[in-house]
Amino acid sequence: MDLSNLTIHQINDLLKCREVKSVDITDSYIKRIKEIDPIISAYLYNDFEEALSNAEDADKIIQKNSDFPYLTGVPLSIKDIFLIKGKRTTCASKILDNFISPYDATVIKRLKKNNYVFIGKTNMDEFAMGSSTENSAYKITKNPYDLNRVPGGSSGGSAASVSADLCAGSFGTDTGGSIRQPASLCGVVGLKPTYGLISRYGIIAFSSSLDQAGVIANDVLDAAIMLKAAVGFDEKDQTTRKLEIKNYPEIVKKADKLTMKGLKVGIPVEFFSEGLDPKIYLKIMEIKDLLKGLGASIVDISLPDTKYSVAAYYVIATSEASSNLERYDGIRFGSRFNEDKNLQSLDELYKKSRELGFGKEVKRRIILGTFALSAGYYDAYYKKASLVRKLIIKNYKDSFNNVDIILGPTSPTPAFLIGEKMSDPLSMYLSDIYTISINLAYLPALSLPIGAVENPTKKGGVLPVGLQLISPWATEERLLSVAKVIEDEVKFREKYTPVM
Ligand code: GLN
Repeated sequence: MDLSNLTIHQINDLLKCREVKSVDITDSYIKRIKEIDPIISAYLYNDFEEALSNAEDADKIIQKNSDFPYLTGVPLSIKDIFLIKGKRTTCASKILDNFISPYDATVIKRLKKNNYVFIGKTNMDEFAMGSSTENSAYKITKNPYDLNRVPGGSSGGSAASVSADLCAGSFGTDTGGSIRQPASLCGVVGLKPTYGLISRYGIIAFSSSLDQAGVIANDVLDAAIMLKAAVGFDEKDQTTRKLEIKNYPEIVKKADKLTMKGLKVGIPVEFFSEGLDPKIYLKIMEIKDLLKGLGASIVDISLPDTKYSVAAYYVIATSEASSNLERYDGIRFGSRFNEDKNLQSLDELYKKSRELGFGKEVKRRIILGTFALSAGYYDAYYKKASLVRKLIIKNYKDSFNNVDIILGPTSPTPAFLIGEKMSDPLSMYLSDIYTISINLAYLPALSLPIGAVENPTKKGGVLPVGLQLISPWATEERLLSVAKVIEDEVKFREKYTPVM
């Protein structure tokens, strides 16, 4: 039996009735990774020994107990931005090439408590800066639906690893769209929770007021299961909130069509602007009609200030990044590039390490952010962007006085070709035009695969399309329930399979 194309809840069912062992499941993922990953390049590295030993531990727990956490014995991949004690964490950067994590991120600690199986670290854009995973210093990940196309980014390795069945689920991070956009491009579910719901402790910082860990999964119930395992207050991250932990999986299981009756669904005019692929527009409209048919009321809304979100984001995110990345100087943190023994001063050592350690996009962001924060420019850039952020927060708040949930596209286009946007940073930045404002507003959002469009460069091929759902602060259960109802209607997993 091929055990590597199951959902987490299916794996859990099999383990519960002791039909298979976690070791068998893990073994089948390992076989598939060995066969397929040399083509997809979703992983930066795997640790099969560790995976099998985690699986054996899980099997012992399963033997002894009839009740065990959902993730027990489930092989998951982890974006290479999370610290795992004793393991290499590179953030896909040369500057962290030989960095071994001294401790576990809180998310990892929680996963270990749930007896998960660690199967490998996934590729990403360097320091999570990018939308295609092409900014990785190590390799280019391919989209499992078309090997000539990008998987999206920055959690592209995570999305590709779930889509190509190289793990059962993946943890990623989302600062401006990095979970939702790759999930959309790879035909999987991506959930970026409310800021503060999951601890950022032990996750390498890019932009601290925007970064949020989240999940990439095969279906909505799996996303709920993974979310529940990771959430909760953490005294090591002062931005986490003491919120009631909801039983997301049980809530999702109860979601049904009837609950759509009377649901107020907001359609923001700004999310259907020029630049949106007309075929994606039509797909989103099909879902709007579907919800209407189920008794939801559709409300046209406006989020007028979201048109400034990309601009505000690239001031705030680069400013925070320039400060967060200051620590990589080749002495306190980061590889020291001192082969050149002629270096005359400490300053030269810093410069050399940063020059050789960081890639082009990271340097571009550090320069932009340093400029935005410099004396005399602070008011014109950072302060102004923060004011715009407040307006965006208010736009959403006002809208949620009238609607329960907001619906739109995740990405303006399906997966683009490798190399297509690399020479034009602005067009790359626009890939996140529909996702960025949500991070600025600290809100939760989910990308759900709802169908596919024809692949223009591959006869008979298709490219997945993602729908984005946005809900008020800390209402992930609403997002998940609505997504589950749509998922049951569109049956994406039954209709589409990647080429790899
Ligand atoms: N693509 C966006 C950027 O390049 C968002 C990245 C992210 O969410 N980490 O910054």
